[in-house]
Amino acid sequence: MTATGEAATDRQPRTDHFDVLIVGAGISGIGGAYHLQQQCPDKRFVIIETQDSFGGTWLTHTYPGIRSDSDLYTFGYRFKPWTSAPIATAEEILKYMGEVIDENDLDRHIRYNHTIGSASWSSEDRCWTLDATRTDTGEEVRFVGRFLWMCQGYYRHSEGYTPDWPGMDRFRGEIVHPQTWPDDLDYSDKEIVVIGSGATAATLIPAMAPKAGHITMLQRSPTYFATGRNANELADTLRELEIDESWIHEIVRRKILHDQATITRMSFEDPDALRQELFKGVRQYLGEDYEVEPHFAPRYRPWRQRVAFIPDGDLFRAIADGKASVVTDEIDTFTETGLALQSGDTLDADIVVTATGFNLSVLGDIEFSIDGRPLDFSATVGYRGTMFTGIPNMAWVFGYFRASWTLRADMIADFVCRLLQHMDEQGAAVVTPRLRDSDADMGLLPWVDPENFNPGYLMRSIHLMPKQGDREPWLHTQDYWSDKDELAAADLEDGCLAFE
Ligand SMILES: Cc1cc2nc3c(=O)[nH]c(=O)nc-3n(C[C@H](O)[C@H](O)[C@H](O)COP(=O)(O)OP(=O)(O)OC[C@H]3O[C@@H](n4cnc5c(N)ncnc54)[C@H](O)[C@@H]3O)c2cc1C
Repeated sequence: MTATGEAATDRQPRTDHFDVLIVGAGISGIGGAYHLQQQCPDKRFVIIETQDSFGGTWLTHTYPGIRSDSDLYTFGYRFKPWTSAPIATAEEILKYMGEVIDENDLDRHIRYNHTIGSASWSSEDRCWTLDATRTDTGEEVRFVGRFLWMCQGYYRHSEGYTPDWPGMDRFRGEIVHPQTWPDDLDYSDKEIVVIGSGATAATLIPAMAPKAGHITMLQRSPTYFATGRNANELADTLRELEIDESWIHEIVRRKILHDQATITRMSFEDPDALRQELFKGVRQYLGEDYEVEPHFAPRYRPWRQRVAFIPDGDLFRAIADGKASVVTDEIDTFTETGLALQSGDTLDADIVVTATGFNLSVLGDIEFSIDGRPLDFSATVGYRGTMFTGIPNMAWVFGYFRASWTLRADMIADFVCRLLQHMDEQGAAVVTPRLRDSDADMGLLPWVDPENFNPGYLMRSIHLMPKQGDREPWLHTQDYWSDKDELAAADLEDGCLAFE
């Protein structure tokens, strides 16, 4: 099949045809394009992106200090060595992605400033049609393609999640969400309250502390924090020995994954020991006798929510310096001058930062339909956590929450490329996951097991997500070690994929 373009007419928008349509130019979409170009070089593809540049998460978020909380040896791609400190700023991640785009001549495949509003599958034409609107000119553009590779992430980029607290309208200061950080926000010498204690709050506070008057981290419940140097000793040693960077990348990735597996195992087998280990990190900065209750001792076992990494203990150093403090309480109401808390205490604030998370966005807020019928995504079952029953020729990259997202993005890319090759070999134009007869009475479970991982943004919207089954290949384990073997070895003729 070739890519062709048709000019707009009075009735039809301009239409471009491709083999593969990739939605999103974040880390998943750019990685997907790289693998597709390498493994299926004859496929014509396009990456469609609503923003005016690449990067996704790392372009959207511009709050002070924005950085990864995963190490870039595993958050970076398998195929491109990471050569700096493990925790990276958004700017460094964008530079790294920019190099991938340049080195592989991917830019010519990306259409920026195109917001996809609808996606419709036609069984008659055996293709997807995406209708997009240009954000710069308002022009309607249509993309037609055989296979749809959804790399749109999992949250709405346009705005973050802010709970509706009483009295917000009477607060005379400024309320800011980190996801839509105003470029001109002057917080010098200001009294600031940051609501939340996840990775975003933990990043913002030390970055703002030097300029701010004082920052209070107000949390309803504590988060686990892990501290450590922003360095990888093994990488540094291998570099001293002048080992090739591609070797260093692979060896350090393996070592980090191995160490993470040990910690995950410990979180199940000996959670108390792991808790004590994490508390030791806090006390290293706040004093040997520092009482971790109530601010740093969550009730849940470690890893049930992401453990936030604090490079070089910067959050704790801001607290130790008196520039920041922590309050564990709940908001009763906003007042004219700050917050009244349920305990009866009050907090004064010039600026309130709501580091309260995301709005989950299922499939990029795109209206999906199949042969004219609206798609109810929550009524589908995930196939290997990437395709969905009854949805032809579509894969979604949903990475890991506890391990680096990109580990799974790379593996799904291999799977999709193998599937496309298999379809070509079989002369098949359509592949649709379908439950086997033996799966008819299979128990259906939430997309992510809440016993295993349960952050607020996911739990608020889990009813909108697809389901997983109770057996292979319908499981979505969020486990790198099982995916690593199973995705690579997946039998495409397992009776669950219907080819036409
Ligand atoms: C502040 C922050 C820090 C994080 N740190 C880490 C970390 O350290 N490690 C980790 O593993 N994960 C981290 N995550 C999770 C992170 O989002 C993922 O790891 C990863 O960046 C997701 O990449 P993605 O390409 O799949 O999606 P995104 O980065 O969300 O990119 C999706 C792209 O699709 C585009 N898009 C969406 N809908 C449409 C549409 N309808 N039309 C056109 N384009 C569309 C968006 O504009 C966006 O550019 C972090 C998340 C946040 C918010």
